[in-house]
Amino acid sequence: MPNEIIDGKRIAQLIKDEVREHSAALRARRDVVPGLAFMLVGENPASQSYVASKERACEYCGFHSTTLRLPLETSEAEVLGRIDTWNIDPDIHGILVQLPLPKHIDEDRVIEAISPRKDVDGFHPINVGKLVIGQECFLPCTPAGIQELLIRSNVATAGKHVVVVGRSNIVGKPIANILLQKAVGANAVVTVTHSAAPDIAVYTRQADILIVATGRVNTVTADMVKEGVVVIDVGINRIEDADTAKGYRIVGDVDYEGVRQKSSLITPVPGGVGPMTIAMLMKNTYQSALRSATQR
Ligand code: NDP
Repeated sequence: MPNEIIDGKRIAQLIKDEVREHSAALRARRDVVPGLAFMLVGENPASQSYVASKERACEYCGFHSTTLRLPLETSEAEVLGRIDTWNIDPDIHGILVQLPLPKHIDEDRVIEAISPRKDVDGFHPINVGKLVIGQECFLPCTPAGIQELLIRSNVATAGKHVVVVGRSNIVGKPIANILLQKAVGANAVVTVTHSAAPDIAVYTRQADILIVATGRVNTVTADMVKEGVVVIDVGINRIEDADTAKGYRIVGDVDYEGVRQKSSLITPVPGGVGPMTIAMLMKNTYQSALRSATQR
């Protein structure tokens, strides 16, 4: 069985190049520069590094970006007030509040304060609802990136059995809903399994396409998949490794070396799903800017 790799880094770069080209055309044609506003509350190092990567991607794509860095003790009212200002700013087409927020701020309230028309993360309940009923909306970036990986790797999904392991609101549930739609690049038969299942292997062994998002190393091993399966490993886990300069390395949720002996296609970690999230954020922001330009 040829076990090829889905190169997420390469596909993400292609998408950013396309967005960069379209964004230049939008600027030339309509004098509109896509604008993305970031809010970072507190000094969580991982959040700082994510926002820095997103800022770099904005620069690459020719977007305008602004980052509001607020201290940890910022009140919820202040956060909501800043979002209101961005909601009515015509130069801002996307608003991204980096999660997690400090405990005294209600994340749901903050997400709901973002205008659904600028919710480029696709987390607002209006966008989530539209996704479920098949209306046009912002798709959350990681699951949208997974669909894009499948499409650009010529993996047919129609009528295939997709098994999703994990039911989070940011990965498991939305990817299940995206691939369930009666639409091009979807139309799959979808099963979702999670930690309450007595034996997830009962389901994973039936998968033509297996998507794993648990945050647990080795959730899926070679004995749990069938020959020829397409595997999308969403996990990002840090494990100790004394042989590396940093003392750790990043692995996914799937036993990569074992499972790739049986898979036809598999995403590596790092370099699979990870790079797609930011690329899809850029795509969502460009689309938001395009929509606002054509509706002026
Ligand atoms: P969550 O912790 O929110 O959800 C994990 C899900 O997996 C839950 O539904 C949980 O079940 C289920 N689960 C946990 N352990 C098992 C198990 N042993 N068997 C079956 N199901 C299990 O995680 P996320 O969805 O946010 O993230 C998942 C992984 O993806 C993480 O490693 C995260 O870092 C990574 N990630 C990567 C992104 C990227 O850009 N590449 C973006 C987002 C996440 P239950 O609901 O019953 O608790």
